[in-house]
Amino acid sequence: AKESGRGRVVKYLAALDIQRHQRAELEDKLRQAIENGEVRPVFQPLVDAKTGSLRGVEALARWVPETGPITPEVFISVAEKAGLIDQLGRKILEASVEAASSWNDIGLSVNISPVQLRNPDFAAVVEAVLEKSEFDPNRLTLEITEGVLMSNPEQAKRAMARLKANGVKFALDDFGCGYASIGALREFGFDRMKIDRSLVVSLSDEKGAGVLNATLSLAKALDIPVTAEGVETQEQADALAERGCDQLQGYLVGKPMEAKQVEKVFLRTAA
Ligand code: C2E
Ligand code: CA
Ligand code: CA
Ligand code: CA
Repeated sequence: AKESGRGRVVKYLAALDIQRHQRAELEDKLRQAIENGEVRPVFQPLVDAKTGSLRGVEALARWVPETGPITPEVFISVAEKAGLIDQLGRKILEASVEAASSWNDIGLSVNISPVQLRNPDFAAVVEAVLEKSEFDPNRLTLEITEGVLMSNPEQAKRAMARLKANGVKFALDDFGCGYASIGALREFGFDRMKIDRSLVVSLSDEKGAGVLNATLSLAKALDIPVTAEGVETQEQADALAERGCDQLQGYLVGKPMEAKQVEKVFLRTAA
């Protein structure tokens, strides 16, 4: 028999309740995991497009609860909504700086949520972390998406200016899949642009290649160096290097890996 209207409503409300309950549970688990240092970075190599030599690493957050891994897209968004992103971001920054401090002069890139940049304490927190570990600010690049341009850009601009004065660099992440304007690129003083994997993938069709070319000419006109993300084939690597990307990142070069692995594969020293 067909369910009554009331029956359906009750079911619907019950489902909402379960969702809310599950979200609250996930938030609790995440809060605990952050406190216990269970959200930690892995590192993906960034290499010179011409020589293939290591230029830096990007820290990418990982969380593997007993129930199985949760993707960063999911737990970062939960953290943003639950007011946990400042704490999570600080832990990742601290752990990344600590791991990378012995990696001579290679760069360290860390992702920053636009929500973090809106916090008036953001610049001071980054400075405190760098000072505590005596990490050279010139080695640090903070990657932010154009979401930062959307709300309270003035606060973000102030924080960026302050950190840039200390030597910290900024990269505009995921360029090419949104609508970041030329004006914004200049106004915010980005030091580097990272073109999104979707642009790299579409290199293989004519229109996609055209969009990529236009994007790279824009970067060139602004004199902003470009990292290509998600490079999976040698063909892509060659095409991107030829078109002026100076850094490559992607599975072709290396997947995100543990700090130990970075040392073993890329930084093998006499010790
Ligand atoms: P993202 O910053 O654009 O990072 C690049 C993503 O592409 C990473 O996914 C990386 O593992 C993946 N990737 C790299 N090379 C390739 C490739 O050749 N092929 C393919 N298919 N994928 C590749 P991941 O680690 O799942 O991170 C997803 C997103 O989560 C990141 O995108 C970033 O926006 C966010 N995220 C990760 N860690 C943090 C963090 O510590 N803080 C913040 N705020 N966001 C983070
Ligand atoms: Ca990134
Ligand atoms: Ca990206
Ligand atoms: Ca992305």
